[in-house]
Amino acid sequence: MMKPYYEKTIKHTFIDFMQTSKFLENPLIFNRAEGVYFWDIHGKRYFDGIGGIFVASLGHRHPRIMEAMRKQMELLTFAAPLHGTTDITLEFVKRLGEVSPGNLNYIKSFSGGSESIEAALKLVRQYFKQTGHNDKMKCISNYLSYHGATFAAMSAGGSPRKDKFEPQMPGFVKLYSPKQLRDSFPSWEETCRFCANLLEKTILSENPDTIGAVIVEPICNTAGIITPTVEYFRIIREICDKYNVLLIFDEVLTGFGKTGDMFAAQTFGVTPDIICSGKGLSAGVIPIGSFMVREDIGDVFYSTDKNNVNFAHGHTFSGFPLADAVGIEVINVLEEERLPQRARQMGTYLKARLEELSKYGIIREVRGKGVLLGVEIVEDSVTNKPFPEDNNFGDALKKTSIKNGVILRIDPDWFAIAPPLISTDAQLEELCDLIEKSVKEALDLVTAKH
Ligand code: PLP
Repeated sequence: MMKPYYEKTIKHTFIDFMQTSKFLENPLIFNRAEGVYFWDIHGKRYFDGIGGIFVASLGHRHPRIMEAMRKQMELLTFAAPLHGTTDITLEFVKRLGEVSPGNLNYIKSFSGGSESIEAALKLVRQYFKQTGHNDKMKCISNYLSYHGATFAAMSAGGSPRKDKFEPQMPGFVKLYSPKQLRDSFPSWEETCRFCANLLEKTILSENPDTIGAVIVEPICNTAGIITPTVEYFRIIREICDKYNVLLIFDEVLTGFGKTGDMFAAQTFGVTPDIICSGKGLSAGVIPIGSFMVREDIGDVFYSTDKNNVNFAHGHTFSGFPLADAVGIEVINVLEEERLPQRARQMGTYLKARLEELSKYGIIREVRGKGVLLGVEIVEDSVTNKPFPEDNNFGDALKKTSIKNGVILRIDPDWFAIAPPLISTDAQLEELCDLIEKSVKEALDLVTAKH
């Protein structure tokens, strides 16, 4: 039930990327979650079709994750990373190193995705300074990408959201996302090939001696689950190698099973030099992110002489014992229950069901890998004409999906799903039925407004 002080306290907080007055028209306040469901304060149940926000990939309050955290609570909840480390953190480093691609086995955990990105960007700069390349400090990334909310991560990002915080940090160079150029080429393959090859031209134009890193999301959520080709990543890898540029994969969203492998790097068959993670590693139980760094790069920060090459970066809550205990158990559950493989199976069913929505004449494309799928909506799927901004489909779908009790990630012209990997076949069917009902009703709403 709404408590008398809720309205005032909602006004006194900040709901992410939402106008508070609009939120107050019909505030969504949850007070319980279990498995694939949330309940709100009125007792209404919602299917969590997106794992919170790509986070609760094992469902909410997974018993093994809760137990691992409880066990750690009985032993040690905090030890300052400035004084030393803990046994559980060392176990976490070992365990994540066992499942990371290639030899990305220098590992540190942080409080979330943005912190992992910040740390990776700082590590690149220090790495090059320590290896005699003082000027290799710029980072190249894609327009439309999202790498986090803190200043360097935001500057690496290319989403229009950051306009309010100009000027951005210097040292970030942008590349066109395949999404922006897709209508200029006959096929997606050609678009991706062109965009990947643009990287070389950009590096040469900027001067290769000044470029330290390229950061990409294997699948970009904020641009609408943009899923490049395997070749795109192969070309980018080759160009990075050619110019001694480190390749960072931002797997904050894609990591830990959703794409059909532990990491999307494996799904696309490319090994980056650094992977940043977050979201799924937490199972939605406690905040955690981490980076995984190539062994020989990590070695540059290990020295027996007095030249002080330690990574000059720390956070009070890095290597947080409760979070590391959760991270270990998340990896154990994913591996033991073969959930990445299950994600592939689930993805086949989900994609087919989403593609069936084409019968409504408003689907331009369904894309993604595994359970991480996006549906692009247009007003007319023959001409690909978009819905008008002031009567867009996304706003209508937000209303109908909440009414029908299903949580999705919705933008004006696309929506995404990433249901928990523990969903049963019957639950997947339930989710798809709820989505279809909501899409149909949203279509009625936008058509009625015409
Ligand atoms: N990178 C990507 C691809 C993300 O999707 C996000 C969060 O949505 C971040 C980084 C930032 O992570 P966090 O919100 O945990 O700071």
